Amino acid sequence: MTTAPVLPSLFVSHGSPMLALEDSAAGRFLDGLGTTIGRPRAILVASAHFEHPGPALTAAARPPTIHDFRGFPPALYALRYPASGSAALSARAADLLAGAGFAPVRDETRGLDHGAWVPLLRMYRDADVPVVSLSVDPMRDAAWHYRVGRALAPLREDGVLVIGSGGFSHNLRELDWHGGGAPADWMTGFTDPLRERLLAGDVEGVLDWRQLPQALRNHPSPEHLLPLFVALGAAGEAPAARLLHASVELGSLALDAFAFEGRAS
Ligand code: ZN
Repeated sequence: MTTAPVLPSLFVSHGSPMLALEDSAAGRFLDGLGTTIGRPRAILVASAHFEHPGPALTAAARPPTIHDFRGFPPALYALRYPASGSAALSARAADLLAGAGFAPVRDETRGLDHGAWVPLLRMYRDADVPVVSLSVDPMRDAAWHYRVGRALAPLREDGVLVIGSGGFSHNLRELDWHGGGAPADWMTGFTDPLRERLLAGDVEGVLDWRQLPQALRNHPSPEHLLPLFVALGAAGEAPAARLLHASVELGSLALDAFAFEGRAS
């Protein structure tokens, strides 16, 4: 047992894969976040880019770095994130999920997609913390992902940092590549009330995100928001949210990050 304070769970928006290379407000925030949080025993990261029907967990001893994007500079494809996996964490997470009625699978071959490794490269550049990645299931709703997170909340008491990596808004078809303009109204009309609900501890209102204005314009498909619900659930009962970062890239890509702390589970 450790006497260290129980870690919060985190939601981070990973934005473009160029986050790994470029100087940006979101990148500088993540650079500091690893220092602020300290070095956890292990990391469990739910990634928007790991889709699976039902929960899946990586279980490779050395998960390879997956470059699951196209059309970016060679320097991005040259990056590796050589963190080890953790058979113990993968098995423990699977046990917790099974105990909560899920049927998790453990994938011995899958590596870390960019939703997992890009923010971790900024937070823990030395890749010296073992990492297990968790899938999302776009066919399931927010409440299902919240329950997945709730099942995993005890991991935080074992010194595991639980992270959801997605995007607070994510409509790649409407990005403003010329930039410079104000954040899009249709984006803030969604992100402002969602942020307010999170900060007010209104879990039901957050899980009801599809009722917010322009929800489907901000998330034409839900996979980038689903890690938020996993992180919220992993905080334990009655999670209190803190806004750690907010910036907008390309006019409508909201890069909010939150920490969640609930009562011990
Ligand atoms: Zn993404």
